[in-house]
Parts: sequence; C-alpha cells; structure tokens
Amino acid sequence: MRMPATEFDIIDRYFRLPAQRDDVVLPVGDDAAIVAVPPAKQLVVSTDTLVAGVHFPENTSARDIACKSVAVNLSDLAAMGARPAWLTLALTLPRVDEAWLDAFAREFIETAARFGAELIGGDTTQGPLCISVTALGLVDAGAAMRRDLARAGDAIYVTGSLGDAAIGLGLLRQGGVADDSAAWLVDRLNRPQPRVDFALLAASCCVCAIDISDGFAADLGHVLEASGCGADVRLDNIPLSPQALAYFNASGGIDWDVVLCGGDDYELCVVTSTANEAQLMQAARQSGTRLSRVGEITPRQGLRCIDAAGETRPLPGRGFEHFSART
Ligand code: ADP
Ligand code: MG
Repeated sequence: MRMPATEFDIIDRYFRLPAQRDDVVLPVGDDAAIVAVPPAKQLVVSTDTLVAGVHFPENTSARDIACKSVAVNLSDLAAMGARPAWLTLALTLPRVDEAWLDAFAREFIETAARFGAELIGGDTTQGPLCISVTALGLVDAGAAMRRDLARAGDAIYVTGSLGDAAIGLGLLRQGGVADDSAAWLVDRLNRPQPRVDFALLAASCCVCAIDISDGFAADLGHVLEASGCGADVRLDNIPLSPQALAYFNASGGIDWDVVLCGGDDYELCVVTSTANEAQLMQAARQSGTRLSRVGEITPRQGLRCIDAAGETRPLPGRGFEHFSART
C-alpha cells in the first residue's frame, strides 16, 4: 500500500539532501540512483531489516532505531572489510508522525555520515513499523574478508566485549534502567558501534571475518561451517565489559549462555594466521579498538569451549534464529 498524499512530502522534507559524495551521479529523486564505482574496486552489498517488536522493543526511540538500522548494516560491510559508501532505506511507517520522522531522519543521516556513507534512495510505504536498509561499500578487488577462509592453526580474535546487548535487553524486559551501568548496557543494545575503522585496517592482514549479530557461538559457527574446520575457544579470554562483569557479579556469576549466545553485539570476529597477529594488534591499537585473542581454529570439526580449569564445557544454547520454535 502507498502512503497517503504525503509520501512525496516526506521524501522531500526528510530524505532528499544535498549530495555529499562526488561519486553520487544521481541522488534521491529519480526512479533509481546512480553511483560511480572506481575501476579497481568491487561493490559489496548487504541488506538488513529491523522489524518493530522483533529487532527492537516497540517503545525504542526514533533516534535509537535510526542509529541501529544504519549500524547493523555498516557492521556487515565492516565484516567484509568494505569501506561504506552508499545506503538505501525502505521505510514502512504505521502513520505520518512528523516528530518521529524528524528525529529518525536526522539520526539516520548523521550516523551514516559519521562513517562516510550517503543516503541515495529508498522507498516509503505504510504498514507496521519496519526499517530495511541496503548498505553498499567498496573493497579493493579480491580483498574482501570472507567467512569461508579460516584455516586450522589460525587465531580467533574478537573486538570490544560480548554479551552487553543481551544483558541490556534483559534489563529492559525486567522493567528498566536503574543506573549508569544499566543505561550503558541498554545503549549497547540500541546504539551498536560498527567496527568500521578497525575493519578497514584489519582487512590488510586478515582474510576471514564475520560480524557478531546472532551471538558469538552461532556466528563463529558459520565461519567454521563455511571453512570446514572447528575451533577451541577459551572462556577465560572472552572479553567482558566492566558493566557486564558487575551485572554478573551481582546476579550469581557469569551466564555463558548470555555471553556466547546473546544477540546484537555487532562486534567483529576476525580469524588470522599467526604470522599476521602482530599486524592485527597494531590495527586494533591504531583504531583504538579493544581486541582479544579468544581461541584457535582446529582441524577437528565443531566448536569447543574450554574453561579456566582446562575442562571442555558443553556449549550453551544456540544464537538467535528466526523461524525456529522459541520458548
Ligand atoms: P518510484 O515510484 O519511482 O519507485 P518513489 O516514489 O518510491 O519512486 O521514490 C521517489 C524517490 O525518492 C526515489 O528516488 C527513491 O529512491 C526516493 N525515496 C523514496 N523513499 C525514500 C526514503 N525513505 N529514503 C530515501 N529515499 C527515498
Ligand atoms: Mg518506489
């Protein structure tokens, strides 16, 4: 269904902006956008959709929804080692709410601009709130990081900290944000930071990466499956934020299910040969990114979690999966 008479007003008012990038040949306004792709580059394309009540709580602010819808898409580009360039936005709105649209559009465009990306087109329709973004980025031909290129003996690294967003979601479900630490954890859910700067540096020394959206265990599992190998992961080395640690200390200990299988981290998991580890650490320092070595790729299939005592621990539940029966 098309939006009522105001569809074109909305586009004009909120989404048609002066061009920022000189490679945008034709911006918002025609049947399609045109961009110029440099000859030695490859175009990297990814789409992620956020559905109200599924990917964010219904009462999430317009700003946070905008920030997240850009961030999750740029995170996919980062996982490929691609430099963000352009975005399209398919926006489905239940009604025209000017204050909501104003806050959403500002935050969307600002977040994109922070990473060098420009909105070049989209679609605006009426229906249950849903935000679908396509992100387009550029890599040197053949230089993208891929999930099928891990090899036995490689080291596994993770940026930032894991589990914060899942704790934040739990806190929201329990009724709210009591202090600064809780607010920070909820921000990690609502305002993920795509690891673009780190990824662009890491791509020069790594061939394999994935972003952690459905939980570390599930996403590393995709790498292992695609690469035909396994992994030993050391729980002691899994990075936790001080806020997550404080939360776990107050609630009876670390819940590995939350840390390893909770979704929405939007950190990167990078796999590299041991020869490139020093250069990878340098990429982390240069981009101001916390980076932790969490394990190794093994020839033996499957993901093994090893605790501080050296014992293998059963893997907790699975990551977030749509269409699976959930309890
Ligand atoms: P068409 O009917 O030809 O598909 P639309 O009426 O859907 O075109 O859109 C008109 C122009 O506005 C197009 O250039 C389209 O890319 C752009 N557009 C529509 N919705 C959005 C949006 N939410 N954000 C950015 N651009 C949009
Ligand atoms: Mg259209």
